[in-house]
Amino acid sequence: MKCNQCSMSLPGGCTIAGVCGKDPDLNSLQEALIYGIKGVAAYYYHAYELGYKDDEIGFFLSKALYSTLTNVNFNKGRFIELILETGRMHLKAMELLDKAYVETFGAPTPVEVPTGTEEGHGILVTGHSYKALYELLKQIREMGLEDEIKVYTHSEMLPAHSYPRIREFKALYGNWGGSWVYQKQEFSEFPGVILGTTNCVLQPLKQYADRIYTTGIAGLEGVPHIDDYNFENLIKHALKTPKMKRVENGKIVTGFHHTNVLPLIDKVIDLINEGKIRHIFVIGGCDVPNPKMSYYEKLTQMVPKDSIILTAACGKFRYNRRDYGTIEGIPRFMDFGQCNNVYSIIVLAAELAKRLGKDLNQLPVSIVLSWMEQKAVAILYTLLYLGIKGIYIGPKPPEFLTPSVFEELRKKFDLRLISTPEEDLPKMLAKGSTLSSDSPLTA
Ligand code: SF4
Ligand code: SF4
Repeated sequence: MKCNQCSMSLPGGCTIAGVCGKDPDLNSLQEALIYGIKGVAAYYYHAYELGYKDDEIGFFLSKALYSTLTNVNFNKGRFIELILETGRMHLKAMELLDKAYVETFGAPTPVEVPTGTEEGHGILVTGHSYKALYELLKQIREMGLEDEIKVYTHSEMLPAHSYPRIREFKALYGNWGGSWVYQKQEFSEFPGVILGTTNCVLQPLKQYADRIYTTGIAGLEGVPHIDDYNFENLIKHALKTPKMKRVENGKIVTGFHHTNVLPLIDKVIDLINEGKIRHIFVIGGCDVPNPKMSYYEKLTQMVPKDSIILTAACGKFRYNRRDYGTIEGIPRFMDFGQCNNVYSIIVLAAELAKRLGKDLNQLPVSIVLSWMEQKAVAILYTLLYLGIKGIYIGPKPPEFLTPSVFEELRKKFDLRLISTPEEDLPKMLAKGSTLSSDSPLTA
Protein backbone atom coordinates (compact mmCIF):
# COMPACT_ATOMS: atom_id res chain seq x y z
CA MET A 1 0.00 0.00 0.00
CA LYS A 2 0.95 3.61 -0.24
CA CYS A 3 -1.05 6.31 1.47
CA ASN A 4 0.22 9.83 2.09
CA GLN A 5 -3.03 11.73 2.41
CA CYS A 6 -2.63 13.06 5.96
CA SER A 7 0.05 14.66 8.12
CA MET A 8 0.51 11.47 10.15
CA SER A 9 2.06 9.86 7.07
CA LEU A 10 5.47 8.30 7.51
CA PRO A 11 8.22 9.82 5.31
CA GLY A 12 7.44 8.65 1.76
CA GLY A 13 3.93 7.54 2.82
CA CYS A 14 2.53 4.71 4.92
CA THR A 15 3.48 1.57 3.00
CA ILE A 16 3.36 -1.44 5.37
CA ALA A 17 0.40 -0.22 7.42
CA GLY A 18 -1.09 3.16 8.27
CA VAL A 19 -0.13 5.12 11.37
CA CYS A 20 -3.90 5.62 11.65
CA GLY A 21 -4.49 1.85 11.77
CA LYS A 22 -5.44 1.35 8.10
CA ASP A 23 -4.16 -1.97 6.72
CA PRO A 24 -3.33 -2.81 3.07
CA ASP A 25 -6.70 -4.51 2.40
CA LEU A 26 -8.62 -1.51 3.71
CA ASN A 27 -6.41 0.78 1.65
CA SER A 28 -7.08 -1.44 -1.39
CA LEU A 29 -10.86 -1.24 -0.88
CA GLN A 30 -10.65 2.54 -0.51
CA GLU A 31 -8.72 2.79 -3.76
CA ALA A 32 -11.19 0.42 -5.44
CA LEU A 33 -14.00 2.73 -4.34
CA ILE A 34 -12.22 5.90 -5.47
CA TYR A 35 -11.47 4.44 -8.91
CA GLY A 36 -15.11 3.39 -9.32
CA ILE A 37 -16.44 6.83 -8.42
CA LYS A 38 -14.04 8.37 -10.92
CA GLY A 39 -15.87 6.33 -13.56
CA VAL A 40 -19.29 7.45 -12.31
CA ALA A 41 -18.06 11.05 -12.30
CA ALA A 42 -17.02 10.79 -15.96
CA TYR A 43 -20.49 9.74 -17.17
CA TYR A 44 -22.25 12.14 -14.82
CA TYR A 45 -20.05 14.94 -16.21
CA HIS A 46 -21.20 14.20 -19.77
CA ALA A 47 -24.87 14.08 -18.73
CA TYR A 48 -24.44 17.30 -16.73
CA GLU A 49 -22.83 19.16 -19.65
CA LEU A 50 -26.03 18.48 -21.61
CA GLY A 51 -28.13 19.82 -18.73
CA TYR A 52 -29.14 16.48 -17.15
CA LYS A 53 -28.66 16.37 -13.38
CA ASP A 54 -29.39 13.92 -10.59
CA ASP A 55 -29.03 14.90 -6.93
CA GLU A 56 -28.70 11.31 -5.76
CA ILE A 57 -25.63 10.74 -7.96
CA GLY A 58 -24.10 14.06 -6.85
CA PHE A 59 -24.66 13.24 -3.19
CA PHE A 60 -23.29 9.72 -3.60
CA LEU A 61 -20.07 11.04 -5.15
CA SER A 62 -19.60 13.27 -2.07
CA LYS A 63 -20.48 10.46 0.33
CA ALA A 64 -18.15 7.94 -1.27
CA LEU A 65 -15.22 10.36 -1.36
CA TYR A 66 -15.89 11.49 2.22
CA SER A 67 -15.80 7.89 3.39
CA THR A 68 -12.14 7.64 2.33
CA LEU A 69 -10.90 10.53 4.48
CA THR A 70 -8.56 9.76 7.37
CA ASN A 71 -10.24 8.12 10.38
CA VAL A 72 -13.75 8.04 8.90
CA ASN A 73 -14.39 4.38 8.16
CA PHE A 74 -12.28 1.33 9.02
CA ASN A 75 -15.05 -1.18 8.21
CA LYS A 76 -14.12 -3.32 5.19
CA GLY A 77 -17.62 -4.72 4.75
CA ARG A 78 -18.91 -1.17 4.58
CA PHE A 79 -16.51 -0.46 1.72
CA ILE A 80 -17.69 -3.51 -0.21
CA GLU A 81 -21.24 -2.18 0.22
CA LEU A 82 -20.09 1.22 -1.06
CA ILE A 83 -18.42 -0.42 -4.07
CA LEU A 84 -21.69 -2.17 -4.97
CA GLU A 85 -23.53 1.10 -4.35
CA THR A 86 -21.08 2.65 -6.83
CA GLY A 87 -22.29 0.03 -9.31
CA ARG A 88 -25.88 1.10 -8.73
CA MET A 89 -25.00 4.78 -9.14
CA HIS A 90 -23.03 3.99 -12.27
CA LEU A 91 -26.07 2.28 -13.77
CA LYS A 92 -28.08 5.38 -12.90
CA ALA A 93 -25.44 7.65 -14.45
CA MET A 94 -25.34 5.55 -17.65
CA GLU A 95 -29.15 5.63 -17.84
CA LEU A 96 -29.14 9.40 -17.35
CA LEU A 97 -26.46 9.86 -19.99
CA ASP A 98 -28.32 7.63 -22.45
CA LYS A 99 -31.46 9.72 -21.90
CA ALA A 100 -29.42 12.91 -22.39
CA TYR A 101 -27.93 11.65 -25.66
CA VAL A 102 -31.20 10.28 -27.08
CA GLU A 103 -33.21 13.40 -26.18
CA THR A 104 -30.50 15.78 -27.41
CA PHE A 105 -29.20 14.02 -30.50
CA GLY A 106 -32.03 11.58 -31.37
CA ALA A 107 -32.24 7.79 -31.00
CA PRO A 108 -29.26 6.07 -32.67
CA THR A 109 -29.72 3.89 -35.72
CA PRO A 110 -27.18 1.50 -37.24
CA VAL A 111 -25.02 3.25 -39.84
CA GLU A 112 -22.19 2.38 -42.16
CA VAL A 113 -19.36 4.82 -41.49
CA PRO A 114 -16.74 5.40 -44.20
CA THR A 115 -13.17 4.84 -43.10
CA GLY A 116 -11.66 6.57 -46.11
CA THR A 117 -11.27 10.30 -46.68
CA GLU A 118 -13.14 13.04 -48.53
CA GLU A 119 -11.92 16.06 -50.48
CA GLY A 120 -11.34 19.03 -48.19
CA HIS A 121 -9.51 20.28 -45.10
CA GLY A 122 -9.73 17.86 -42.21
CA ILE A 123 -10.56 18.06 -38.50
CA LEU A 124 -10.19 14.90 -36.41
CA VAL A 125 -12.15 14.69 -33.14
CA THR A 126 -11.17 12.17 -30.48
CA GLY A 127 -12.53 11.37 -27.01
CA HIS A 128 -16.11 10.90 -25.84
CA SER A 129 -17.79 14.34 -25.87
CA TYR A 130 -20.62 14.41 -28.40
CA LYS A 131 -21.41 17.91 -27.18
CA ALA A 132 -18.00 19.16 -28.29
CA LEU A 133 -18.39 17.44 -31.69
CA TYR A 134 -21.90 18.84 -32.12
CA GLU A 135 -20.79 22.40 -31.28
CA LEU A 136 -17.86 22.13 -33.70
CA LEU A 137 -20.10 20.91 -36.55
CA LYS A 138 -22.64 23.64 -35.79
CA GLN A 139 -19.97 26.35 -35.92
CA ILE A 140 -18.55 24.99 -39.22
CA ARG A 141 -22.08 25.27 -40.64
CA GLU A 142 -22.57 28.79 -39.22
CA MET A 143 -19.27 29.86 -40.81
CA GLY A 144 -20.49 28.53 -44.20
CA LEU A 145 -17.61 26.03 -44.45
CA GLU A 146 -19.41 22.68 -44.72
CA ASP A 147 -18.09 22.14 -48.26
CA GLU A 148 -14.54 23.19 -47.34
CA ILE A 149 -14.00 21.18 -44.16
CA LYS A 150 -14.64 17.52 -43.40
CA VAL A 151 -14.76 16.23 -39.84
CA TYR A 152 -13.58 12.75 -38.90
CA THR A 153 -14.27 10.83 -35.72
CA HIS A 154 -11.50 8.94 -33.94
CA SER A 155 -11.75 5.96 -31.56
CA GLU A 156 -14.65 6.32 -29.06
CA MET A 157 -16.16 9.16 -31.10
CA LEU A 158 -17.16 6.67 -33.84
CA PRO A 159 -20.75 6.09 -32.57
CA ALA A 160 -21.51 9.82 -32.98
CA HIS A 161 -22.36 8.97 -36.61
CA SER A 162 -25.38 6.97 -35.43
CA TYR A 163 -27.15 9.93 -33.75
CA PRO A 164 -29.48 11.65 -36.29
CA ARG A 165 -28.92 15.22 -35.08
CA ILE A 166 -25.14 14.81 -35.29
CA ARG A 167 -24.90 12.96 -38.60
CA GLU A 168 -27.21 15.47 -40.32
CA PHE A 169 -24.27 17.91 -40.49
CA LYS A 170 -22.78 17.81 -43.96
CA ALA A 171 -19.27 18.39 -42.64
CA LEU A 172 -19.24 15.09 -40.70
CA TYR A 173 -17.66 12.53 -43.00
CA GLY A 174 -16.13 9.37 -41.54
CA ASN A 175 -13.90 7.63 -39.05
CA TRP A 176 -10.11 7.78 -39.01
CA GLY A 177 -7.80 5.24 -37.39
CA GLY A 178 -8.41 2.77 -34.61
CA SER A 179 -8.36 2.91 -30.83
CA TRP A 180 -6.52 5.51 -28.75
CA VAL A 181 -3.52 3.15 -28.49
CA TYR A 182 -2.35 4.00 -32.02
CA GLN A 183 -3.04 7.73 -31.88
CA LYS A 184 0.55 8.95 -32.09
CA GLN A 185 1.00 7.33 -35.48
CA GLU A 186 -2.53 8.08 -36.66
CA PHE A 187 -2.45 11.74 -35.62
CA SER A 188 0.98 12.15 -37.26
CA GLU A 189 -0.49 10.84 -40.52
CA PHE A 190 -3.63 13.02 -40.31
CA PRO A 191 -2.83 16.24 -42.19
CA GLY A 192 -5.47 18.44 -40.56
CA VAL A 193 -6.27 19.76 -37.10
CA ILE A 194 -6.96 17.45 -34.16
CA LEU A 195 -9.29 18.05 -31.21
CA GLY A 196 -9.09 16.06 -27.94
CA THR A 197 -12.32 16.20 -25.95
CA THR A 198 -11.73 13.70 -23.10
CA ASN A 199 -9.57 10.67 -22.47
CA CYS A 200 -7.82 8.86 -24.02
CA VAL A 201 -5.58 11.60 -25.39
CA LEU A 202 -1.79 11.51 -25.03
CA GLN A 203 0.94 14.14 -24.97
CA PRO A 204 1.56 14.85 -28.69
CA LEU A 205 4.57 14.06 -30.82
CA LYS A 206 6.28 17.06 -32.41
CA GLN A 207 4.88 15.93 -35.81
CA TYR A 208 1.42 17.22 -34.80
CA ALA A 209 1.99 19.24 -31.62
CA ASP A 210 1.29 22.49 -33.50
CA ARG A 211 -2.10 21.36 -34.79
CA ILE A 212 -3.77 19.73 -31.80
CA TYR A 213 -6.20 21.41 -29.38
CA THR A 214 -8.11 20.29 -26.30
CA THR A 215 -11.53 21.28 -25.00
CA GLY A 216 -13.82 20.39 -22.10
CA ILE A 217 -12.25 18.09 -19.52
CA ALA A 218 -9.15 17.29 -21.60
CA GLY A 219 -5.81 19.06 -21.27
CA LEU A 220 -2.30 18.61 -22.70
CA GLU A 221 0.89 20.37 -21.69
CA GLY A 222 1.81 23.11 -24.20
CA VAL A 223 -1.39 22.61 -26.24
CA PRO A 224 -4.04 25.36 -26.61
CA HIS A 225 -7.23 24.68 -24.65
CA ILE A 226 -10.57 25.88 -26.04
CA ASP A 227 -13.02 27.16 -23.42
CA ASP A 228 -16.78 27.38 -23.86
CA TYR A 229 -16.66 25.30 -27.05
CA ASN A 230 -15.70 28.33 -29.16
CA PHE A 231 -13.96 26.63 -32.08
CA GLU A 232 -13.50 29.64 -34.42
CA ASN A 233 -9.68 29.66 -34.17
CA LEU A 234 -9.46 25.90 -34.61
CA ILE A 235 -11.69 26.05 -37.70
CA LYS A 236 -9.60 28.87 -39.20
CA HIS A 237 -6.47 26.84 -38.44
CA ALA A 238 -7.95 23.85 -40.31
CA LEU A 239 -8.33 26.02 -43.43
CA LYS A 240 -4.53 26.52 -43.46
CA THR A 241 -3.76 22.78 -43.39
CA PRO A 242 -3.29 20.74 -46.61
CA LYS A 243 -6.48 19.57 -48.29
CA MET A 244 -7.17 15.83 -48.14
CA LYS A 245 -8.16 13.84 -51.22
CA ARG A 246 -11.07 11.46 -51.70
CA VAL A 247 -9.93 7.90 -50.92
CA GLU A 248 -12.29 4.91 -50.59
CA ASN A 249 -11.33 2.56 -47.75
CA GLY A 250 -14.43 0.57 -46.81
CA LYS A 251 -16.95 1.10 -44.03
CA ILE A 252 -17.64 -0.02 -40.48
CA VAL A 253 -21.06 -0.42 -38.88
CA THR A 254 -22.01 1.08 -35.52
CA GLY A 255 -25.18 2.40 -33.87
CA PHE A 256 -26.91 -0.58 -32.29
CA HIS A 257 -28.93 0.55 -29.28
CA HIS A 258 -31.69 -0.97 -27.17
CA THR A 259 -34.24 1.20 -28.99
CA ASN A 260 -33.37 -0.40 -32.34
CA VAL A 261 -32.56 -3.93 -31.09
CA LEU A 262 -35.58 -4.43 -28.79
CA PRO A 263 -37.88 -4.75 -31.84
CA LEU A 264 -35.73 -7.74 -32.91
CA ILE A 265 -35.94 -9.54 -29.61
CA ASP A 266 -38.89 -11.82 -30.52
CA LYS A 267 -36.91 -13.04 -33.52
CA VAL A 268 -33.81 -13.56 -31.35
CA ILE A 269 -35.87 -15.58 -28.85
CA ASP A 270 -37.29 -17.73 -31.68
CA LEU A 271 -33.78 -18.36 -32.97
CA ILE A 272 -32.56 -19.29 -29.47
CA ASN A 273 -35.51 -21.66 -29.03
CA GLU A 274 -34.88 -23.22 -32.43
CA GLY A 275 -31.21 -23.72 -31.55
CA LYS A 276 -30.08 -21.39 -34.31
CA ILE A 277 -28.50 -18.91 -31.85
CA ARG A 278 -26.47 -21.00 -29.42
CA HIS A 279 -24.76 -18.30 -27.41
CA ILE A 280 -24.55 -14.54 -26.93
CA PHE A 281 -21.13 -13.11 -26.18
CA VAL A 282 -20.71 -9.65 -24.71
CA ILE A 283 -17.10 -8.90 -25.60
CA GLY A 284 -16.12 -5.31 -25.02
CA GLY A 285 -14.24 -2.70 -23.08
CA CYS A 286 -11.06 -0.72 -23.42
CA ASP A 287 -8.09 -1.24 -25.67
CA VAL A 288 -4.76 -1.51 -23.86
CA PRO A 289 -1.20 -1.70 -25.17
CA ASN A 290 -0.81 -5.18 -23.71
CA PRO A 291 0.06 -8.32 -25.72
CA LYS A 292 -2.77 -10.18 -23.95
CA MET A 293 -5.27 -8.07 -25.89
CA SER A 294 -4.72 -10.58 -28.70
CA TYR A 295 -7.03 -12.81 -26.58
CA TYR A 296 -10.02 -10.69 -27.60
CA GLU A 297 -9.04 -10.66 -31.27
CA LYS A 298 -8.74 -14.44 -31.24
CA LEU A 299 -11.84 -15.11 -29.14
CA THR A 300 -14.04 -13.09 -31.52
CA GLN A 301 -12.55 -15.09 -34.38
CA MET A 302 -13.18 -18.42 -32.64
CA VAL A 303 -16.77 -18.00 -31.44
CA PRO A 304 -19.02 -20.48 -33.25
CA LYS A 305 -21.01 -19.28 -36.24
CA ASP A 306 -24.27 -19.89 -34.37
CA SER A 307 -23.34 -17.22 -31.80
CA ILE A 308 -23.66 -13.46 -31.77
CA ILE A 309 -21.30 -10.86 -30.35
CA LEU A 310 -22.38 -7.62 -28.69
CA THR A 311 -19.66 -5.04 -28.14
CA ALA A 312 -18.98 -1.51 -26.91
CA ALA A 313 -15.96 0.75 -26.23
CA CYS A 314 -12.64 0.98 -28.04
CA GLY A 315 -11.24 -2.56 -27.69
CA LYS A 316 -13.49 -3.45 -30.65
CA PHE A 317 -11.19 -1.70 -33.10
CA ARG A 318 -9.12 -4.88 -32.90
CA TYR A 319 -11.95 -6.95 -34.39
CA ASN A 320 -14.74 -4.73 -35.79
CA ARG A 321 -13.65 -4.72 -39.43
CA ARG A 322 -14.43 -8.37 -40.04
CA ASP A 323 -17.58 -9.47 -41.83
CA TYR A 324 -19.40 -11.58 -39.23
CA GLY A 325 -22.49 -12.07 -41.36
CA THR A 326 -25.99 -12.64 -40.03
CA ILE A 327 -28.15 -15.40 -38.57
CA GLU A 328 -31.47 -15.25 -40.42
CA GLY A 329 -31.18 -11.47 -40.67
CA ILE A 330 -29.86 -10.87 -37.14
CA PRO A 331 -26.36 -9.35 -37.34
CA ARG A 332 -23.77 -11.60 -35.69
CA PHE A 333 -21.77 -8.58 -34.56
CA MET A 334 -23.45 -5.52 -33.04
CA ASP A 335 -21.49 -2.47 -31.96
CA PHE A 336 -23.44 -0.56 -29.31
CA GLY A 337 -20.99 2.34 -29.26
CA GLN A 338 -19.06 3.92 -26.42
CA CYS A 339 -18.32 2.30 -23.07
CA ASN A 340 -21.39 3.99 -21.49
CA ASN A 341 -23.57 2.19 -24.05
CA VAL A 342 -23.11 -0.97 -21.99
CA TYR A 343 -26.35 0.42 -20.55
CA SER A 344 -28.16 -0.66 -23.74
CA ILE A 345 -26.71 -4.17 -23.44
CA ILE A 346 -27.94 -4.38 -19.82
CA VAL A 347 -31.45 -3.29 -20.89
CA LEU A 348 -31.49 -5.97 -23.59
CA ALA A 349 -30.18 -8.68 -21.26
CA ALA A 350 -32.85 -7.83 -18.68
CA GLU A 351 -35.55 -7.92 -21.37
CA LEU A 352 -34.31 -11.23 -22.74
CA ALA A 353 -34.35 -12.74 -19.24
CA LYS A 354 -37.86 -11.40 -18.60
CA ARG A 355 -39.29 -12.66 -21.88
CA LEU A 356 -37.78 -16.10 -21.40
CA GLY A 357 -38.98 -16.22 -17.80
CA LYS A 358 -35.44 -16.95 -16.66
CA ASP A 359 -32.58 -15.07 -15.14
CA LEU A 360 -29.20 -14.61 -16.77
CA ASN A 361 -28.15 -17.63 -14.75
CA GLN A 362 -29.98 -19.76 -17.23
CA LEU A 363 -29.28 -17.72 -20.35
CA PRO A 364 -26.57 -18.59 -22.86
CA VAL A 365 -24.72 -15.33 -22.23
CA SER A 366 -21.02 -14.81 -21.47
CA ILE A 367 -19.48 -11.47 -20.57
CA VAL A 368 -15.82 -10.90 -21.42
CA LEU A 369 -14.42 -7.48 -20.52
CA SER A 370 -11.16 -5.72 -21.20
CA TRP A 371 -10.38 -2.88 -18.87
CA MET A 372 -7.91 -0.03 -18.94
CA GLU A 373 -9.22 2.86 -16.90
CA GLN A 374 -11.75 3.83 -14.27
CA LYS A 375 -14.95 3.95 -16.34
CA ALA A 376 -14.42 0.26 -17.08
CA VAL A 377 -13.93 -0.30 -13.34
CA ALA A 378 -17.29 1.35 -12.66
CA ILE A 379 -18.96 -0.76 -15.38
CA LEU A 380 -17.61 -3.88 -13.70
CA TYR A 381 -19.10 -2.69 -10.39
CA THR A 382 -22.47 -2.21 -12.13
CA LEU A 383 -22.39 -5.78 -13.40
CA LEU A 384 -21.44 -7.00 -9.92
CA TYR A 385 -24.24 -4.90 -8.38
CA LEU A 386 -26.65 -6.59 -10.80
CA GLY A 387 -25.46 -9.91 -9.43
CA ILE A 388 -23.90 -11.09 -12.69
CA LYS A 389 -21.40 -13.82 -11.95
CA GLY A 390 -18.78 -15.59 -13.99
CA ILE A 391 -17.59 -12.42 -15.76
CA TYR A 392 -14.22 -12.77 -17.49
CA ILE A 393 -11.87 -9.81 -17.10
CA GLY A 394 -8.51 -9.03 -18.65
CA PRO A 395 -5.95 -8.37 -19.84
CA LYS A 396 -4.73 -8.45 -16.20
CA PRO A 397 -6.14 -8.16 -12.67
CA PRO A 398 -6.30 -4.68 -11.13
CA GLU A 399 -3.07 -3.73 -9.34
CA PHE A 400 -5.11 -1.73 -6.81
CA LEU A 401 -6.64 -4.91 -5.39
CA THR A 402 -4.51 -6.83 -2.90
CA PRO A 403 -4.45 -10.60 -3.51
CA SER A 404 -6.80 -11.17 -0.58
CA VAL A 405 -9.31 -8.52 -1.73
CA PHE A 406 -9.22 -9.93 -5.28
CA GLU A 407 -9.73 -13.43 -3.89
CA GLU A 408 -12.73 -12.27 -1.88
CA LEU A 409 -14.31 -10.67 -4.95
CA ARG A 410 -13.44 -13.74 -7.01
CA LYS A 411 -15.22 -16.02 -4.55
CA LYS A 412 -18.22 -13.74 -4.03
CA PHE A 413 -18.83 -13.03 -7.73
CA ASP A 414 -17.02 -15.90 -9.47
CA LEU A 415 -14.87 -13.29 -11.24
CA ARG A 416 -12.58 -14.98 -13.75
CA LEU A 417 -9.33 -13.82 -15.26
CA ILE A 418 -8.95 -14.53 -18.96
CA SER A 419 -6.53 -17.36 -19.76
CA THR A 420 -6.50 -18.43 -23.42
CA PRO A 421 -9.44 -18.45 -25.83
CA GLU A 422 -8.90 -22.19 -26.34
CA GLU A 423 -9.27 -22.83 -22.61
CA ASP A 424 -12.04 -20.31 -21.88
CA LEU A 425 -14.34 -20.70 -24.88
CA PRO A 426 -15.63 -24.22 -24.05
CA LYS A 427 -16.41 -23.07 -20.48
CA MET A 428 -18.24 -20.03 -21.80
CA LEU A 429 -20.27 -22.10 -24.22
CA ALA A 430 -21.11 -24.57 -21.47
CA LYS A 431 -22.01 -22.16 -18.73
CA GLY A 432 -22.80 -18.63 -19.84
CA SER A 433 -23.27 -16.08 -17.08
CA THR A 434 -24.84 -16.77 -13.73
CA LEU A 435 -26.93 -14.39 -11.69
CA SER A 436 -27.17 -14.28 -7.92
CA SER A 437 -30.58 -14.82 -6.31
CA ASP A 438 -30.64 -11.30 -4.81
CA SER A 439 -29.94 -9.58 -8.14
CA PRO A 440 -32.31 -6.75 -9.10
CA LEU A 441 -32.58 -8.50 -12.50
CA THR A 442 -34.24 -11.52 -10.91
CA ALA A 443 -36.98 -9.39 -9.34
S1 SF4 B 1 -4.59 8.22 6.38
FE1 SF4 B 1 -3.54 6.67 7.63
S2 SF4 B 1 -2.44 5.44 6.13
FE2 SF4 B 1 -2.96 7.39 5.15
S3 SF4 B 1 -1.22 8.75 5.46
FE3 SF4 B 1 -2.67 9.13 7.13
S4 SF4 B 1 -1.95 7.75 8.74
FE4 SF4 B 1 -1.00 7.04 6.89
S1 SF4 C 1 -13.04 2.93 -23.91
FE1 SF4 C 1 -11.61 3.26 -22.23
S2 SF4 C 1 -9.56 3.07 -23.15
FE2 SF4 C 1 -11.04 3.36 -24.81
S3 SF4 C 1 -10.99 5.57 -25.25
FE3 SF4 C 1 -12.71 5.15 -23.84
S4 SF4 C 1 -11.82 5.50 -21.81
FE4 SF4 C 1 -10.10 5.25 -23.21
